[in-house]
Order: sequence, then structure tokens, then C-alpha cells
Amino acid sequence: MERDIGKRLLVESGYRSAAYQLYLFIFYMPKHGYSIQETNRFVALPGCSEHGYPQQQAIDFINQEGINGEDKPEEFEALPEYQWLTEHAGEYGFVLSYPRNNDQNTSFEPWHWSYRSHQSPVTSHQ
Ligand SMILES: [Zn+2]
Repeated sequence: MERDIGKRLLVESGYRSAAYQLYLFIFYMPKHGYSIQETNRFVALPGCSEHGYPQQQAIDFINQEGINGEDKPEEFEALPEYQWLTEHAGEYGFVLSYPRNNDQNTSFEPWHWSYRSHQSPVTSHQ
């Protein structure tokens, strides 16, 4: 990425234990009216997160200016770093887990990429 566009991404979140995932879930519940179902659109329950599943390890990225898209996914989506990911992450075995209108009823998370394998590179979307 740095060679191509002169930018780097940082890892904001990688592996999380089930205990930490539970902490996160409870932490975000007030923001979603204490609804488990609504909170679950944004935060996985312990045991269901790709952040706690090393076979498909998820990474949440943040750019060097501190943009992580948490409150506005469109901000992260607009970054040249995101464009680079959509074109090249598949070459490294990573896929965008939660694209827009995904069938898992999870919110769009342009910062969240997970490892699948080197055998099935993702095709880039425009
Ligand atoms: Zn994530």
C-alpha cells in the first residue's frame, strides 16, 4: 500500500478474547437502547466474532489520521486506503466481511477485514 499510494493503515483491533468481546458488547448496549438484537448488528456476541476466531482472524483498520469509520462508515469508505484494500486485500487472503446490505444483517464495516486463504482472492468491486 505504501509503495502504491504512499499511505499506511494501522491495526486498531485484532484478536479479542471472549471476555473482552463480552465487555465490548455490554459497553455498546446503551448506545443501542440496551437492545441485544440492535447491539448485535454492530457488535458480535462472544463466540461469534471473527476477532476471536484465529482461523478467520479479523483486523479492524484505522488510518494514520485516526479515521476508523466507527461512527461514519462513509468516512472510511472514502479513503484511498479503503480503495486500495478493495483492489489488493484479496491478494493477501483478506476479504471484506460486512459489505453494504450483507445478508448477515450486520452494519456496513469497511474497516473490518478477515483472513480466509490465499486460494480464493476476492475480486475487487468498484
Ligand atoms: Zn472488526
